[in-house]
Amino acid sequence: AKKAGGLRHVRYHKELSELANKELYLVEGLHNALEKGELFLNFQPQIETETHDIIGVETLIRWKLENKFISPAEFIPIAEKTGHIIQIGDFVLRETCKNIPLIEKEIGKELLYSINVSARQFYQKDYIQRTKKILEETNVLPSKIVLEITESIIMEYTDFVLKSLQELKEFGFQIAIDDFGTGYSSFKYLELLPVNIIKIDQSFTQAIHRSRTKAIVQSIISLGHNLDLKILAEGVEDLFQVANLNELNCHYLQGYFFSKPLTLENLLMEYKK
Ligand code: C2E
Ligand code: CA
Ligand code: CA
Ligand code: CA
Repeated sequence: AKKAGGLRHVRYHKELSELANKELYLVEGLHNALEKGELFLNFQPQIETETHDIIGVETLIRWKLENKFISPAEFIPIAEKTGHIIQIGDFVLRETCKNIPLIEKEIGKELLYSINVSARQFYQKDYIQRTKKILEETNVLPSKIVLEITESIIMEYTDFVLKSLQELKEFGFQIAIDDFGTGYSSFKYLELLPVNIIKIDQSFTQAIHRSRTKAIVQSIISLGHNLDLKILAEGVEDLFQVANLNELNCHYLQGYFFSKPLTLENLLMEYKK
């Protein structure tokens, strides 16, 4: 028993140090990922439930490091710790804005552009200032940009968050609550915050065959209708989910059933007018 414990101990340390090495490797890589052009954007279409028309895209960052893709689920938390998320966040917004004229020319219609905002970015003192500046420099109408805020952002510092969101809203940005229902969602926030869109987390979408889940989704959607917000369901993967969300009058859908996140090139090809 003692021997087995010892082995486990060794294995535990090996795994821990591999984890630490991986993180160090990513931290190192992040230092010049932007300069090296290793970061780029993907765009995932957002679809109107009634018509199946594209109404917008969510921008999702991609990192190709030494010929291997690193998932944002892995490197975004690290970039938040190191602070690289500030530059990365600016890059994502600026890159998106720069490409809007081309996208709308090729697709032949106006779209909404959803951008993920991390907590570290949002709490940066000059976040609002730099964000406005990027829109002004690229000449993009703020109402075309949807800032996706998670519940982890709005669970603290209520006064600061409220003021910031109000200022962003006044400038013209739209606000979405991302991963809705997985965090500290509170009716207080919906009462106070100037939110335009609620994104139902994919865990709900993918369990919509369960009657309890469907009842919860139905409640979120009718809340949206009553508050005059748009509801978007994330992670839509099959026709059964589409049918159920359609039946519940969910405004918008996003997920692999319609499209995976696409490179700019593929987005233009797939949705060319
Ligand atoms: P998220 O904001 O909740 O983005 C949705 C994630 O679900 C994306 O993963 C997307 O590729 C994936 N997805 C879309 N449709 C489906 C589906 O039908 N089924 C399943 N199983 N998954 C689907 P991705 O691109 O790996 O991004 C993961 C997370 O990383 C994002 O979650 C977001 O929190 C973060 N992230 C991605 N890009 C950025 C960024 O530019 N800035 C910041 N701050 N975070 C980002
Ligand atoms: Ca998102
Ligand atoms: Ca989400
Ligand atoms: Ca998520």
